[in-house]
Amino acid sequence: MRALPASVLAVCGLIATACSGAGSDGAAAGQAAQAANAATTSEQAPVPAKPEAAAKPLDGKVIVIDPGHNGGNYRAPKAVNRKVNVLTKWKPCDTTGTETNNHYTEAAFTWDVSNRMLKILKSRGATVKLTRADNDSVGPCITQRAAIGNKAKADAAISVHADGAGPANHGFHVIMPKKINGPVDPVVGKSRQLGVAVRDSFRKGTGLPYSTYIGSKALDYRSDLGGLNLSSVPKIFVECGNMRNAAEAAKFQDPKFRQRIALALANGLQHYLEA
Ligand SMILES: [Zn+2]
Repeated sequence: MRALPASVLAVCGLIATACSGAGSDGAAAGQAAQAANAATTSEQAPVPAKPEAAAKPLDGKVIVIDPGHNGGNYRAPKAVNRKVNVLTKWKPCDTTGTETNNHYTEAAFTWDVSNRMLKILKSRGATVKLTRADNDSVGPCITQRAAIGNKAKADAAISVHADGAGPANHGFHVIMPKKINGPVDPVVGKSRQLGVAVRDSFRKGTGLPYSTYIGSKALDYRSDLGGLNLSSVPKIFVECGNMRNAAEAAKFQDPKFRQRIALALANGLQHYLEA
């Protein structure tokens, strides 16, 4: 197949999942229950107002998850390589990402982990959006991935990746934005808080070590990533490990370990949002 037209990029939509609306219906029932309670059992402990609609920890929070790359990118080099302005430089619209030595792709990994995160975070009450709808199309561009978080007015956004470094390198790291005299500047501080929360949770939840080859204690700061430079909401990247390292590659191909990663990332987001 030849490269797909650039218009394909525009087709890549969102998975939007609204999870709010649990509030007002329960209120009337709760008031009725309270009134009945007051009339008959004044000396008993108060009955919870809305037992059937218990508050969830992430009610009202909006989270955007960006699964890095896309499984169809390799089929569309022209569209993917188109240069876009990320304020500090011009970069390709997207890339294919890396893969393990036995060809488990980064795009498939990020898609799976992101969907696991989505389920966990929705179950905790958050409204969650992904920046792409499947793993066999093209894009969206890194500029669009940032715009999706901005448009959603996300309380937190995370771009999920895994690295492709030398085989002896291992461990994970989190990438946070720097001030660039651009739209990300006001959220650099909050992004750092988000990054530290996710770093701590990832370490605890996965047991993977801090990166042996990038950053300090798994924290890195960059001004060359469009997904960060163009974000006006708190945002980080996580590089879950090195797909070219045999031990980490094996872990990434285990669905149980991907669930651990997703849970650790979701917990990190929640810790940040509750702080
Ligand atoms: Zn990547």
